[in-house]
Amino acid sequence: MLHFAQTCDAIAATTKKLEKTAIVGAYLRSLPLDEAATAAIFLSGRPFPAYEETTLQVGGSLLWRAIAELSGKSEHELTVIYRKYGDAGSVAAEALPERKGSSLSLTEVQQSFSGIATARGPSAKAFLLRQLLERATPLEAKYIVKIISGDLRIGLKESLVEEAIARGFEVPLDQVKRANMLLGDLGESLRLASAGKLADARLRLFHPIDFMLASPVESSEEALSYFQNASVEDKYDGIRAQAHISQGEVRIFSRTRDEITESFPELPGALAGLPKDAILDGEIVAWSGSAGAPARDESAKQALARGRALPFSTLQQRLGRKKVSAKLMHDVPVAYMVFDALYADGELLLDRSLYERAKILDKLMMSLEPSTAHVGTDAFVRPAERSSAAHASSQALFAFATPELPLAQVLRTPVATASSPEDLETLFTSARDRGNEGLMIKDLDSLYTPGRRGKSWLKMKRELATLDVVVTAVEYGHGKRIGVLSDYTFAVWDGDRLVDIGKAYSGLTDAEIAEMTEWFLTHKTSEQRLRLEVEPKIVLEVAFNNMMRSTRHESGYALRFPRIVRLRPDKLPGDADTIETAREIYDRQRH
Ligand code: AMP
Repeated sequence: MLHFAQTCDAIAATTKKLEKTAIVGAYLRSLPLDEAATAAIFLSGRPFPAYEETTLQVGGSLLWRAIAELSGKSEHELTVIYRKYGDAGSVAAEALPERKGSSLSLTEVQQSFSGIATARGPSAKAFLLRQLLERATPLEAKYIVKIISGDLRIGLKESLVEEAIARGFEVPLDQVKRANMLLGDLGESLRLASAGKLADARLRLFHPIDFMLASPVESSEEALSYFQNASVEDKYDGIRAQAHISQGEVRIFSRTRDEITESFPELPGALAGLPKDAILDGEIVAWSGSAGAPARDESAKQALARGRALPFSTLQQRLGRKKVSAKLMHDVPVAYMVFDALYADGELLLDRSLYERAKILDKLMMSLEPSTAHVGTDAFVRPAERSSAAHASSQALFAFATPELPLAQVLRTPVATASSPEDLETLFTSARDRGNEGLMIKDLDSLYTPGRRGKSWLKMKRELATLDVVVTAVEYGHGKRIGVLSDYTFAVWDGDRLVDIGKAYSGLTDAEIAEMTEWFLTHKTSEQRLRLEVEPKIVLEVAFNNMMRSTRHESGYALRFPRIVRLRPDKLPGDADTIETAREIYDRQRH
């Protein structure tokens, strides 16, 4: 473990990516295979491989207490140290007593993590945690604590560990990435790399694959400048969801790869009817018939014809809940708008074109309810021919109800084609008329590229553009907001660094501001009169009228009339936009 910790310090000491991967590659190569596999997982900031469901369930306060007990330091002393580094691992390194030599191996740390994960209750976990930290030198404890907190903070993203494996074992990077994507296990990917068997990696169902992402476009002309064969769908305002279905078992994962099946108890039943194993990609939306949930004797088609997706704010009531009451399911019914198939009947579809995937998806959806009228990719229709009635009937639908559960719906997202900016404008207007955010414009010839934001999927919304940004500092407001942290400074990514791009103080509700104030107060890293620097964890979507060059912020840009559109709890800090995207928006608006 000491060697691991020293390596992490060395990685932190350089900002150069190439140097980081060289250090990690050589380190992994130097270890026996089992330890190298464990180290690869730890280096990604995780105690267990991504696909495993095991979690330690050790929160900040448990860690804090263990460090306090073992160091004998007072709360105040520890807080002073924390202010200096803003990270519990560094507190452990500075506060814990020196030990003679180190005897802790990576395998022992891994076993101890497994023990903590299976121990029941905080006191059993605290006991095992103390036992582990008691054996560690301060430097080792620093990284044990960081792994437990889920972030090493040494500027080493999972993708760099993949690069290091490719380098260390002299294998192609795309093969390592693919194996890790399919397995969700850097350790197993490393083993395959070392045996020259990366091609043997097979998909693990029920482990979420990264989502394909979209780039913003400003105009119909721009959208059509990237590719010829455009498939166009409404952009629904809900949450992205990947459904894994196998032999009647269904699990649903969010964009942050968390399992959210529990939040939508009415969906698995609807999907379990698929006769084949599948992974589907789509958006869960709040759904409304004219009077709430569809009646039980109403045909699926009728329900759909009078239904529409509701704004995100309605869906919000359904999010983050462990238990969902029948009343809530009835009051806020949901639909799963499916737009892609990543896997079907034993075949991984990522390397098939969207055109082919869409056909496979159409067939799958038909098998859910063969009697439902269905117009899929065979019926790509010109926008002008698409009345709203045609729109309603062009969806395959499966509805499922039991006496206990309200009706849930799984709908095939309707698709159209567009070959001119006018086509797109017409589609855009009707999407907005249906209450949706705008359009998603996708290249029919493109493959599914997990985790990548390319120009194969484009999103067109009404705002000039919005940026997803990370909050870096907060300030107390004025007037009635004097007691709450309501002014947010936010940043975009410039490589591994966050650079501030703006500040906004409107857009959230009072309840949201109160909730965020509480969060910021417990996650501040430093405090200066009315301003707190905070852990960069909260993602916001901000809109603005235009973008200017400015020296006020580190990014070199400033936003004119920035406003917070909404909190984005469905996004991780790493999902926020980059300075390149900001630059593109700036450049585009000048033309
Ligand atoms: P944004 O969240 O603004 O980056 O926009 C991209 C998101 O739009 C995706 O991640 C999906 O959650 C959502 N979305 C809504 N409708 C669609 C659609 N038809 N195809 C793909 N993504 C969609």
